[in-house]
Amino acid sequence: MRKTKIISTLGPAVEGKMDELIKSGCDVARFNTAHGSVEGHLDMYKEFLEASEKSGKITATMLDIKGPELRVSACSKNFVIVGDTVTIGDDGDIELNHPEVYDVLTPGNRVLIHDGDIVMRVVKIDPIIHAEVLIGGIIGPKMGVNVPGVHLPIEYLQERDKLFLRKMKNVDFVAASFVRNSRDIVELKSFMKDLNMHSKIIAKIENQEGVDNIEDIIEISDGIMVARGDLGTEIPLENLPRVQKYLLEMAIQHGKPGIIATQILESMIRNPHPTRAEISDIANAILDGADALMLSGETAVGKYPIESVRILSKVAEKADSLAEKKSLIELRGTLSESVSNAAVLLAMEIDADALLVLTRSGKTARLVSRHRPSTPILAASPFPEVVHALALNWGVTPYLIESFEYSDEMVRKALNVAEERGYVKRGDVIVIAGGEPRSVSGTTNFVWVQLVGEVIARGNGFGEKIVHGKICRIPRKCDIVLLSNIDSSEQPENVRGIVVESDTYDPSLLREISRRGISILAGTGTLNVENEEVTLDPKRGIIWK
Ligand code: PGA
Ligand code: MN
Repeated sequence: MRKTKIISTLGPAVEGKMDELIKSGCDVARFNTAHGSVEGHLDMYKEFLEASEKSGKITATMLDIKGPELRVSACSKNFVIVGDTVTIGDDGDIELNHPEVYDVLTPGNRVLIHDGDIVMRVVKIDPIIHAEVLIGGIIGPKMGVNVPGVHLPIEYLQERDKLFLRKMKNVDFVAASFVRNSRDIVELKSFMKDLNMHSKIIAKIENQEGVDNIEDIIEISDGIMVARGDLGTEIPLENLPRVQKYLLEMAIQHGKPGIIATQILESMIRNPHPTRAEISDIANAILDGADALMLSGETAVGKYPIESVRILSKVAEKADSLAEKKSLIELRGTLSESVSNAAVLLAMEIDADALLVLTRSGKTARLVSRHRPSTPILAASPFPEVVHALALNWGVTPYLIESFEYSDEMVRKALNVAEERGYVKRGDVIVIAGGEPRSVSGTTNFVWVQLVGEVIARGNGFGEKIVHGKICRIPRKCDIVLLSNIDSSEQPENVRGIVVESDTYDPSLLREISRRGISILAGTGTLNVENEEVTLDPKRGIIWK
């Protein structure tokens, strides 16, 4: 099972194909408001939710707002060559969507267009900006513009962002582009609060300012995205791998999801096969600690959207074990963190079949996930918004349960649903962690171990094999024979398991019998079972049904 999550940007390439998109591995749908209309996005949103519902898979939705993103709003020159001088400003050769920027550009500033395809340098201001072209190319309206190192004197939220936020209030995540500092997130949060909107916020780190302020930004956000497209234009490209590792490390330290975006499978926008470098980049992003990888043009406008998700899913699944090998990083901190660490350690120690997290806020699940355990992580919560948000976290299989009352009852319910859904089976040993319901939400304060099924008795086990079958007191009539005691003169034959109730058995005799391949549990005390289907596990020393 794949553990790294996949975000697909929706667009014309996948319209009408959402079922297939989800089936091939998409966990989160992203709506990129740089393109399209509100109506167009709402149509795709509806189609995605319907497909998701039909599939039974827990998915999430993400609205990507653009914030103070700079773009070409109009241009009278469509092509520039090295050495040209162009004017930038009102009625200039190039006009920008935020005229406020004209006032802060100074000679020496670089102006990059379309991911840095075109590079210009400001040479003179009189009062319109004159820039010399260092690298030429084609310029078109709506192309992205970057002015590295310049703080833009623009409010964070733009009218178009506000419009989308109002119209798509129920998304699970809002991805905030071009976050510069924590104040930007505060501005977004208070706008959302007025709308009574509860989506989680992913801060997209797209420039040096965002990197510099990451501590405060991550503190107040619910996760981050390493937006390599703009980041690679804004900072020296060769610094990108190091910054990617740094930002993901910060996300792990804070127990919040980290996303790697852009050019994940860029070549697959046109080709049915990825490059070797892309495959390797995916694996390294996962090794660096990414929770999720995001596809952009690949699924929005590419020729091979479904294939892209399929390939990403396959490559990520193989790479997951790389992250697991690096797991159990030393992470200390609050009570919740320590208890989550203990749950992961315990699961590894006893080789548990699953880690079940009972969570009200999702926090325990995220704290467990950041250790990248090889044990599958199940997260049960009674709150749909919590369950959906966990679709983004590495290795977490979230699901909805009815209520959150008393711990023991909730565990039973959560295990029942997990069994119904096929996440666990009878006989599995599960490490359970969570916050006791009477404690404050967001506190993890218990870990316990439980078997799926009802343990009938414990005793001393002899033998290796787990035996499943009918139990009765008459040898030859069933698979597992139940004896009050055993002595060397009358050893049962043709049975696969023996249960000895007495505690005055002779261990050497039982060991000898077990060498013939018969599993034994001894010293159980008197048992009241007859003709029932049970399982005898000599290694764990239990018999259960
Ligand atoms: P974008 O963000 O696709 O919205 O530009 C991602 C990036 O810049 O990498
Ligand atoms: Mn960007």
